[in-house]
Amino acid sequence: QAKEQGRNGYQIYDESMNAKALERIILESQLHKALKDEEFTVYYQPQVCARTGEVVGVEALVRWNSRELGIVEPGRFLALAEEIGLVIQIDQWMMLAACRQHRAWLDSGLPPVTLALNISGQHFLKNDLLDTVTSVLEQTGLDPGLLELELTEGVLMAHTEKTVKTLTALKEMGVRLAIDDFGTGFSSLSYLKRFPLDVLKIDRTFINDITTDPDDAAITLATIEMAHTLKLQVIAEGVETTAQLEFLVSHGCDTYQGYLFSRPLPPEAIPPMLTSLSSCSAGA
Ligand code: C2E
Ligand code: MG
Ligand code: MG
Ligand code: MG
Repeated sequence: QAKEQGRNGYQIYDESMNAKALERIILESQLHKALKDEEFTVYYQPQVCARTGEVVGVEALVRWNSRELGIVEPGRFLALAEEIGLVIQIDQWMMLAACRQHRAWLDSGLPPVTLALNISGQHFLKNDLLDTVTSVLEQTGLDPGLLELELTEGVLMAHTEKTVKTLTALKEMGVRLAIDDFGTGFSSLSYLKRFPLDVLKIDRTFINDITTDPDDAAITLATIEMAHTLKLQVIAEGVETTAQLEFLVSHGCDTYQGYLFSRPLPPEAIPPMLTSLSSCSAGA
């Protein structure tokens, strides 16, 4: 530890302290402040119907608009926020902010698309997740059927008894449930049967090479087929090329997200994409 190395302040910047450790110290000191000063902001990535090309949903993705660092992506601060116990508050802030924004879009006459939110493991396992969701839906008057909570395999596998209870309660409220980053979690597939899920999101590491790697293509096809058999809607993540999209469309994928259609964007960029009335029968 720098402190123990001596009283000379310059040793804090000694070469022995690598850039990562330094960044961590800077980030940690600023994360608490960021939450208090409302420096977090919501970006939205469109979810597109593979058949009609219409935007049928948006995924809310947190960004930290730091005065010192500019726009910071979650890859740089979310793991740390989990470590220091801030991620639940970030999730809760995101849920209210995104639902309020969605309410405003609906009030201005935009079509009722799905709003997807990422829920951290800590947040999911906290006892008051149901209260938070209930309270946010009450405050915003949002139809629960428009809210889709994204969970990861690891979270679902961690405490299966409690997980079944929580998922069932959310389901009874009418909230939609999605499994994010599907295929990366090394988990048993039996949970797909046990948990009341609506949507399966194929991780972008599979989508990346579907047109060049026969293994990734096979995994993706098998996943789409299995999901449909289980009455789950399939979303492909990270679609970047028309070749990938054509592959997915021709194999029955329902919905996609990716840079090909749009990167995650600040809220003001979203309404122009939502002006057409959806005729895509997503949610099958
Ligand atoms: P995710 O939920 O799997 O979100 C998809 C990530 O892939 C996003 O990164 C998105 O910007 C990126 N992405 C989308 N399309 C493409 C593409 O075509 N190519 C590539 N290379 N990337 C694409 P982002 O926004 O940096 O978020 C990273 C992760 O951070 C998310 O992965 C999610 O796990 C987590 N996250 C984001 N917002 C929240 C939040 O509010 N709460 C929690 N708990 N986690 C969040
Ligand atoms: Mg997600
Ligand atoms: Mg994902
Ligand atoms: Mg992820």
